Amino acid sequence: MVLAAVLWCGDPMSAVPLKNDQPAHDGVRSVSVLGATGSIGDSTLDLIRAAPDKYRVEALTGNANIAGLAKLAKEFNARFVAVADPARLGELRAALAGTDIGCGAGESALIEAAARPADWVMAAISGAAGLKPALAAVDRGATVALANKECLVCAGDFFMSRAVAANARILPADSEHNALYQALASGNRHELLRVIITASGGPFRTWAAEDIEQATLAQALKHPNWSMGQKITIDSASMMNKGLEVIEASYLFALSPDEIDVLVHPQSIVHGLVEFADHSVVAQLGAPDMRIPIAHCLGWPDRIPGRAARLDLASIGQLTFEAPDFVRFPGLRLAYDALRTGNGATTVYNAANEVAVAAFIAGKIRFGAIARLVEDTMNGWVRAGNLAPLGSADDAIAVDHSARKMAATLLPQIAAKAS
Ligand code: NDP
Repeated sequence: MVLAAVLWCGDPMSAVPLKNDQPAHDGVRSVSVLGATGSIGDSTLDLIRAAPDKYRVEALTGNANIAGLAKLAKEFNARFVAVADPARLGELRAALAGTDIGCGAGESALIEAAARPADWVMAAISGAAGLKPALAAVDRGATVALANKECLVCAGDFFMSRAVAANARILPADSEHNALYQALASGNRHELLRVIITASGGPFRTWAAEDIEQATLAQALKHPNWSMGQKITIDSASMMNKGLEVIEASYLFALSPDEIDVLVHPQSIVHGLVEFADHSVVAQLGAPDMRIPIAHCLGWPDRIPGRAARLDLASIGQLTFEAPDFVRFPGLRLAYDALRTGNGATTVYNAANEVAVAAFIAGKIRFGAIARLVEDTMNGWVRAGNLAPLGSADDAIAVDHSARKMAATLLPQIAAKAS
């Protein structure tokens, strides 16, 4: 992979500013929430709701949940709302009747929502659909709390370079990356040995491979610690989510795959650790509640009052750790392969996984076939000679679309094959 264009987060020129290089934020902060109707959107708005004198909502976006979006728009008196599906504009207008809230539908409306002048933007649309709206916020130099990991997985180098060029600030909202972000501030690039991302291990952590193969949707959706959207919950069960996070960490902090380790930690209390040259290991801990990393981003560079439960280690008693199992959870191994391959391979990994998860939800493939479809698509992509550097968002989106097509073509044979 190419890391030359991406500056380490400790570099003064990086888009991920490690030190508090800004004055404390006084007055009202204008905010937009992309993916407002989702799980991250809900946690973000919960924090905003608790401090109405500190925030003003500029724009909110959603996809299918028009009623929920309109309700939030009225509650927070948003200036503009957007939904992804152009066919649903009439429905959205009707739901907002009697207000002066502006609205739009379709990709251009999502981009408009992100481009409107908010100081701070939460990028929490799920999937590759979040890339262009997030870039619209980046391009106007906003402070972007990045929850949507697909932006980096699909277009990592390019996304970060655009942020540097536009003087945008990227604040990692994903809990593990936010933890690393906080811990990395304890040292410098040349002192770093490695970062460690923790993983709960998901509902199948102790299951035999044959049982994981046959796991049902209901079983995959039972995350032991976190309450999240459906796609990311399934990704946690397959550990594809951890794979996406390894890739995300690599691009965010300009780290090579060898500098990123994964550690299974079933209690989800330690979210990320950084080991320095003197063998000091600095970790961030907190209850498994996304309002903690989101509050860190929302208040940045200050700390704001938390809304999640405070950590009571005495009542938790024990924290345990295990090495990840790359055999029972091949999705994690494939993420490292994709990262080392570079040239669009991480985009293919993500696209094939999105197709596979949708097929699993629709009952078309077994749980164990998710990783097989991703692996076959990645292999097919390399065999077809399709690897090439991504120079633009359109390149990344073109790879995403072609990889989805390839995955969809491979799907019937994967579905037919027993493990
Ligand atoms: P959800 O599924 O709960 O919410 C997704 C949001 O995106 C909703 O507002 C949804 O609208 C909207 N959306 C879905 N599809 C589209 C589309 N095609 N175009 C525009 N908007 C769309 O997801 P999460 O909140 O769980 O996750 C959001 C992102 O944050 C993901 O990238 C995830 O990986 C990442 N993340 C999530 C964490 C979590 O704890 N949930 C933790 C760390 C990262 P609607 O509701 O109307 O369908």
